[in-house]
Amino acid sequence: MLFHRVSSFAALALAALPLMAQHKVTQAEVDRITRDAILIDTHNDVTSLTVEGYDIAKPNAHGQTDLARMKGFLVAEFFAVYVGAEYVNGNHSANRALEMIDTVRTDIIASHPNDFVFATTADDIVRAHNEHKIAALMGIEGGHAIEDSLRLLRDYYALGVRYMTLTHFNTNNWADSQGDVDNPKIMHHNGLTPFGKDVVREMNRLGMMVDISHTADRTFWDALETSSAPIIASHSGCRAVTSYTRNMTDEMIKALAAKGGVMQINFGCEFLSQRYFNDSKPLQAAMRERYQEIRKIEDPAARAEAMEKLRTEFTSKVPSATLADVVAQIDHAVKTGGIDHVGIGTDFDGVACVPPELSSYNKFPALTRALLEKEYSAEDIKKIYGGNLLRVMRAVEQRARELSSTPAIHSDIAKK
Ligand SMILES: [Zn+2]
Repeated sequence: MLFHRVSSFAALALAALPLMAQHKVTQAEVDRITRDAILIDTHNDVTSLTVEGYDIAKPNAHGQTDLARMKGFLVAEFFAVYVGAEYVNGNHSANRALEMIDTVRTDIIASHPNDFVFATTADDIVRAHNEHKIAALMGIEGGHAIEDSLRLLRDYYALGVRYMTLTHFNTNNWADSQGDVDNPKIMHHNGLTPFGKDVVREMNRLGMMVDISHTADRTFWDALETSSAPIIASHSGCRAVTSYTRNMTDEMIKALAAKGGVMQINFGCEFLSQRYFNDSKPLQAAMRERYQEIRKIEDPAARAEAMEKLRTEFTSKVPSATLADVVAQIDHAVKTGGIDHVGIGTDFDGVACVPPELSSYNKFPALTRALLEKEYSAEDIKKIYGGNLLRVMRAVEQRARELSSTPAIHSDIAKK
């Protein structure tokens, strides 16, 4: 009898559980929250296509970024001024950076003035939201773009660049990169050099956000200690969830948050999912070789076709990460660093694989729904989508105002 009573009580409790744990999420609620949020993406590599002639207003069948899928969902884009390590040879890094800045200003903004608006401040982003336009901002990816000159850094700021990722996969003359963690001969600065610290200080003085995605862990700690403003990780993930060293440890996430910064969750499958990371690793070297071969194909249509074939072959061998993986990354980052220190940095068109359920900006309602079902509030979601990044931008702008009477830094890498 007692057994019966207990078991029926247990059954009742179990039946009630889903109701208590989860409110019924309506489509109207999902749409309203997604529309009202100021969605800011801090890393998009479509510029590597536009610089070669791709029009962002045309459907991007093989990629994640085009105007039709941005409109009505995305409020602000930080377009990557990506400078590959190969430009270091022969000192072509500044040339490439200037070309990438021009593709944002000419091919994206000036060619589509009804849809994009040039933006450099948090207020510009809010204004763009009110005017139903997409704010176009720029972040340099790869500190070698400044060719060891703070004058070039100031030029880039003047042209509108508002963050710089201190390294790409390559260690430069003043900062160690995560890409060289297994190569101590190349990664030799033990973080930032004295000149590298001056780069960070000058970024603070100008009002350019310091970005530590791609840097070696030691560089992260040096940048965090040197910067007098909050810093960002523009496209990273949680190493406790996926062991890829491009992701941040819990200790790093906590320290970044304690200093008021924000980490932006990368949608690349290798960042999101340990299963994908493990399964794709053995294939990567061979795939990378074929990818480099395909990049040499001159005809754009033939190149795109070969790229798609390679992608299909790869995904048939290693299934993509999922929307649930994105939610798990966000959730871990929030539990570790706090709700005020997590955002979105998709890396769209810069990674080989993204979750199919989140393959562009028009799919964000699916993420909104998933977060609501996990009991995130509308306010929480708005913070993650852009509110937190706006706060950091404002803090960086405020710090630059405080430093406005201090003179420009003149630092020579050779004398340090
Ligand atoms: Zn990157």
